[in-house]
Amino acid sequence: MFGLIGHLTSLEHAQSVAEALGYPEYANEGLDFWCSAPPQIVDSFHVTSVTGPTIEGKYVESCFLPEMLMNRRIKAAIRKILNAMALAQKAGLNITALGGFSSIIFEEFNLKDNNQVRNVSLEFDRFTTGNTHTAYVICRQVEQASAQLGIDLSQATIAVCGATGDIGSAVCRWLDQKIEVKDLLLIARNQERLQALQAELGRGKIMELEEALPQADIIVWVASMPKGVEINSQTLKKPCLIIDGGYPKNLGTKIQYPDVHVLKGGIVEHSLDIDWKIMQIVSMDVPSRQMFACFAEAILLEFEQWHTNFSWGRNLITVNKMEQIGTASVKHGFSPLLSF
Ligand code: NDP
Repeated sequence: MFGLIGHLTSLEHAQSVAEALGYPEYANEGLDFWCSAPPQIVDSFHVTSVTGPTIEGKYVESCFLPEMLMNRRIKAAIRKILNAMALAQKAGLNITALGGFSSIIFEEFNLKDNNQVRNVSLEFDRFTTGNTHTAYVICRQVEQASAQLGIDLSQATIAVCGATGDIGSAVCRWLDQKIEVKDLLLIARNQERLQALQAELGRGKIMELEEALPQADIIVWVASMPKGVEINSQTLKKPCLIIDGGYPKNLGTKIQYPDVHVLKGGIVEHSLDIDWKIMQIVSMDVPSRQMFACFAEAILLEFEQWHTNFSWGRNLITVNKMEQIGTASVKHGFSPLLSF
């Protein structure tokens, strides 16, 4: 059995879907209440591979909200993730994906040093960040969506916002090794990490966001922002392909501008329907088939019986591992989302 640990995108989102999640009593409660709420298993479902087998999964709502990071409720955020992991392990889930901010909090606050959660000793090989599959899917979206829009990658400048992150650095490695692209613009705040990435790649220009965006034919957003930023579409190149892989979304508003095309990044579509309700709650356009690529990684690991933390640690994702999980993804019937 596999599991998915997820969270909602904001307090407002949590209040609006509390009833559907199974706790109507939370609908009018504020952040304090969500800080003290325990994790819950709120969905059980089955996924069938196009190769035949059906597996069973559960969704664990951690009750973490991004406002906890914005309001310095760090201890609460940490407790949410560790408690959700303990619940997943106690429920007998063999492999569980740490969705959205779950893996970011795990790494940022070194939770591997905290493996005892009351009477549960966390076994970290039961968990995966899902970032290898997410990075693979985003790269395939770059390749396939640019072809749809007539953007020639060999002449294209690609800006990666969040380039030094786990997903961002893997995307940069793929773009460097697998595709011929004209220029790579590397964006993040920490200069040391940017320089280390540039040295590793042997290429890429380090830039501020405002300077980079107007130069980019393609923008890959994979920054860990608790709240999205507003950008001025007028300043962007036309055509421009934006792949927003953040959760919550890195873009603050819905862009509707001629020749600026925004694709939901790191989302896959399965070839067969899934009997879950959770993807409706997180507003997928086709909830019975679409999901976050990190969640799909746990599904793939269960189909393949690779009960191991396939994606773990930070900035260790190789192109080989992206190809390996990508092969499993295609084999079991997943494809990257390509509809704008
Ligand atoms: P990491 O924490 O590893 O990396 C985040 C990156 O964003 C770093 O380069 C960081 O660098 C940069 N960053 C953070 N804040 C800013 C900012 N204000 N301006 C510019 N850069 C910034 O995160 P992950 O790679 O694990 O995840 C990235 C995003 O992808 C997250 O939003 C996450 O929720 C989402 N995600 C999506 C998945 C999916 O299935 N679609 C799966 C997993 C994650 P610095 O701090 O130096 O600025």
